[in-house]
Amino acid sequence: MLLTILGGCGAWPAAGQACSGYLVEHDGFRLLVDLGYATVPRLLERVGADQIDAVFISHGHPDHCADLSPLLRARTMRDDPPAPLPVYSLPGALDAVLALDRPGLLADAYVLHELTAGGRFDIGPFRAQTRLLPHSVPNAGVRLTAGGRVLAYTGDSGPSPDRVELARGADLLLAEATYVDRVPEDSRRYLASARQAGRQALEADARHLLLTHLQPGTDTRAALAAAGAGYDGEIGIATSGLVFDLS
Ligand SMILES: [Zn+2]
Repeated sequence: MLLTILGGCGAWPAAGQACSGYLVEHDGFRLLVDLGYATVPRLLERVGADQIDAVFISHGHPDHCADLSPLLRARTMRDDPPAPLPVYSLPGALDAVLALDRPGLLADAYVLHELTAGGRFDIGPFRAQTRLLPHSVPNAGVRLTAGGRVLAYTGDSGPSPDRVELARGADLLLAEATYVDRVPEDSRRYLASARQAGRQALEADARHLLLTHLQPGTDTRAALAAAGAGYDGEIGIATSGLVFDLS
């Protein structure tokens, strides 16, 4: 399983970067996990829009799904559009982004699969297992298994035992870490810190940890140090262009 980071900024895209977006490949199948602001230009530097096989979106915040719009436009506004793109999300999560275009324009560009959090299903060669994790809107963390490897991704979420269970024994935990150390009081239930992500990686016995969704301007060395205080595995920061081979 190969993970390419399209972007890892929380909230808005920093200069030269993009928000949450991850290309996950196995056996020639290309799955996009989240498509936040500015991820599509990073994607198109690598593969064509028509070469994507499926999309999974964790939740409906625009820093996780806004670029579904240009991806679908790039697939459908051409002479030889590819087959409709399977898109997996929680019910209603994509209503706003899919309503940006006039009714009907994107009708043949996608097939929406509304998922039930907690369920297991297959996306191509990937076995997907989801959990509803605490956020200000419904958010599905996902555990993807293929070829004997496991990638766990939190989406955005506050602390929860489910966040640990999702990552149990994973080869890689891709964990939202908006803050370094202290999460502001009004966000404490909905977002996490790098320090919490490190502790979760330890509790879950994950082999590697990638911190993502850092607020632009975050001191990345401080984030790595905070995560490393509770976890002695390898830790990285998700930035546009980073490739992680889980094999
Ligand atoms: Zn969010």
